[in-house]
Amino acid sequence: MIIIHGHGVNGISQENYDLIIENTDLLLLECPHCHHTGTRVHAYYDREVKCDDDSFRLLVLRVACKFCRKTHAVLLDAIVPYSSVPMETTIEIIHADSSEKIRRVFHKYGCLEFHEIYHIIRSFKRLWKEHLASYGIMIDADISRNSIRVFKRQFMQIPCTLCGSYG
Ligand SMILES: [Zn+2]
Repeated sequence: MIIIHGHGVNGISQENYDLIIENTDLLLLECPHCHHTGTRVHAYYDREVKCDDDSFRLLVLRVACKFCRKTHAVLLDAIVPYSSVPMETTIEIIHADSSEKIRRVFHKYGCLEFHEIYHIIRSFKRLWKEHLASYGIMIDADISRNSIRVFKRQFMQIPCTLCGSYG
C-alpha cells in the first residue's frame, strides 16, 4: 500500500479522500515494491469505515506500478490498513486507560463493539507500546509518518493472522 501523508490523522470522508487523490500526481508516487516512481489508476475497491454511530463504504483507489506492475491501495494517514476503525478513533481508544474511559468511548461510537475496542488496546500493548517508547515516538499528528519512517508500516497496522506479514 501507499500512504499519502500530510493530511493528519483526523477525520475521514469520501469527499476528503477524493480531494486528496485529485491533488496527488500519480506519476510521482513511489512503488513500495520496486521503488520506482510512477503509477497509474488500476481499480477502485470499497472498504468499511466506522464513524461515530454509523459506518460507510469508502471507495479507495488502487494504483499499478508502471515498472513492476504490482498494485497498491492508496491510503491516507487517517486510515489504519486492514482495520475499519479510523486512526483518530484508534488513537482515542489507545488513550482510554481505565474502564470508565473505555465505557465512554464505547458510548461515543455506537458502531463499535466492546471486543473491537479491547482488541485495539491489546494490539497496541502487545505490538506497539514498547517500540514507540524505545524510539521516543509520541502519538501525535506525525505518528503515521514517523511510524512508516522507523517501522516501515502504518501505525497500528497489525500483521496478518495467517502468515504474520504486514501485507
Ligand atoms: Zn514497482
